[in-house]
Amino acid sequence: MNNRLRKITIVGGGTAGWMTALIMETEFSRTSAPKDRPRICLIESPNIATVGVGEATVPHMPRTIRKAGITERDFFRETNASFKLGVKFCNWNKDARGNRIDYVNPFAHGQILEGLEAAEYFLRFGNGDRDFTQSVAPHDDLGRLCKGARELGQPEFEQRFGYAYHLDAVKFAGMLSRVCTRRGVEHIQDEVQSVELDEQGNVSHLMLERKGRHDVEMVVDCTGFRGLIINQALGEPFLDYSDYLPNDRAMALQIEHPDPEKIESVTRSTALGAGWTWRVPLYNRVGTGYVYSSAHRTDDQAADEYLEWLGDSGKGATPRVIPMRIGRVRNAWVKNCVAVGLSGGFIEPLESTAIHMIEHAVRWFTEHLPTREIEPALRSRYNRQMNRLYDEVLDFICLHYRLGNRTDDQYWIDARTEMKIPDRLAENLELWQYRLPMDHDIGFATLFDFRVYQTVLLGKQVYDTGYGPGIRDRLRPVKKPIWFHYTKGAKAHLAQILKTMPDHKTLLRDI
Ligand code: FAD
Repeated sequence: MNNRLRKITIVGGGTAGWMTALIMETEFSRTSAPKDRPRICLIESPNIATVGVGEATVPHMPRTIRKAGITERDFFRETNASFKLGVKFCNWNKDARGNRIDYVNPFAHGQILEGLEAAEYFLRFGNGDRDFTQSVAPHDDLGRLCKGARELGQPEFEQRFGYAYHLDAVKFAGMLSRVCTRRGVEHIQDEVQSVELDEQGNVSHLMLERKGRHDVEMVVDCTGFRGLIINQALGEPFLDYSDYLPNDRAMALQIEHPDPEKIESVTRSTALGAGWTWRVPLYNRVGTGYVYSSAHRTDDQAADEYLEWLGDSGKGATPRVIPMRIGRVRNAWVKNCVAVGLSGGFIEPLESTAIHMIEHAVRWFTEHLPTREIEPALRSRYNRQMNRLYDEVLDFICLHYRLGNRTDDQYWIDARTEMKIPDRLAENLELWQYRLPMDHDIGFATLFDFRVYQTVLLGKQVYDTGYGPGIRDRLRPVKKPIWFHYTKGAKAHLAQILKTMPDHKTLLRDI
C-alpha cells in the first residue's frame, strides 16, 4: 500500500523521546512484519541538555518495562532504581489542634467491607492513633516491602501492592537509548536548526546542523519546554495554567543518603514557605528539589529556604534553577506533528504524572497511527483524549492546594483562595462536603480514581478542620464490629510482614 507510513522522526533524546521510541518499536514489532513497520529515527542535539529531573513514577511503570521486554532486574541495575509505594505529604495541612499532618497517599487501596468503602468506616469510627492510610494500606508505613525479590516482575505482586519506581532520569534515558538502538532505532546526534513546512502546513523537512536536510513524514516533537516544532514552527498556542497553579520554578540538587541503610519506599513532598520540596530516594543517592512560586520568592530567597531545609546535606551547594512552563498546548497533534513530553505540556510534578502522561500519549497515538494521509477524525479524537488527561491531572493537583489550611505564609493563603479551580473540581468539592467521593464523581480516570480522592480528603483531615462539618451525621449506617475485625487483622498482618520480610535496602542489594 503506497500510502503506508514509512518513517517516524522523533526529535529529542530525553525521557519523552526515548520512551516514544521504545513504546513504538515494541508495538510495531508486536503487530507487524518487519517489511510493514515504519522506520524510527531519533534526532538528539549533542549540545542541548535534557531537563535531568523526573525521577519518581506511578504504578504503570512495571508493566511498561515488562511489555518492552526489559527485565526488572536489568532495569533496577541500570537505573539505580528503588521501589515507590506512594507519596508522603508532610506539613501540607494542620490538624484540629494546629499540629502538622504527615500522611501517605499510597498506591494500595482501601477495601470494600460488606459492600461499603473502608473510608466510610474510618470516617465514622477512626482507628485510634492510626490515620486512614495506616488503617487500610499498612504495608507501606515503615518503608518495608511485603514480598521478597523472587516475586519481582509478577503481575500478581504488582496488582496486590501497586508499586512504582524511583529512577535516575539520565541513566534511564541512557538505558532506553541502548535498548532502542539495539533493536534498530536510528540515532542521529545532530541539532535541528530550522523546520520547513509544505503548502498544506505539514512539516516536510528538518534542517540539521551537520547532516543537512532531513525528510519528514510524521514527526514527534520531544524537544522539552522549548516546543521547537509544535509551538515555534507550527505556532500551536500554549494554554497557560498559571491561573490555577502558582508554582512556576524549581531548583534541584542530588545529595547523599543521610543513612544509606535506610531507603524510604515513598516520595516525600514537604510543604515549605512558598511551595514544596521533593525527596526521591534512589539506591545510591537522593534526588531533591524545591518547586516554588516566583510571585512569592526570588530565586535567592527560595535557595536559602531550600538549603535550610536540606541542612547538612545541602551545605555549600548551589542548586540548579529550572523555569517551568505550566500548562499544555491547545492540541498536541497538529498536522503531521505530535508533541509528547514537556513540549506538549506539564503540570507541576506533585504527583509524578509526567512520565505516565508520556506513555499514554505514545500509546494512544500509536493506536491512531495514520497512514501518510491523516484523517481529521483520528487527530481530533486523540487531542480530546489528551486534553481530558490533562484535565484529570489538573483537577487532582488543584485539590491539594484548595484543601490546604496553612496560614503561615501568604503563599498558602493565595494558593487556596486566589487560584482558580476547574469547574468539575469545584462541583465535586461542593458535593464532598456531604458525602465521600464515589466512583461516578470522577468518571474518566486513567490515574486518580475516587479512592485516591478519599485518601487525600481523609489524609488532610479536612472533615475535622472545617470542611463538610455535618458529614458524619449523613453517613450510611455501618457496623462497628466489621471495622474492628478488619483493622485488628490488618495490624496483625503488618506485624507478621515486618518480622519476615527484608527491608528495602536489603531487597535492593539482593537485586
Ligand atoms: P527534555 O528532558 O528537556 O529533553 C529535550 C530533548 O530535546 C533533549 O534531548 C534535547 O537535546 C532535545 N532538543 C531540544 N532542542 C533540540 C534541537 N533543536 N535539535 C535536536 N534536539 C533538540 N516527571 C515525572 O514523571 N515524575 C517526576 O517526579 C517529575 N519531576 C519533575 C520535576 C521538575 C522540576 C520538572 C521540571 C519536571 C519533572 N517531571 C517529572 C517531568 C519530566 O522530567 C519530564 O516529563 C521528562 O523528563 C521528559 O522530558 P522531555 O524528554 O520532554 O524533555
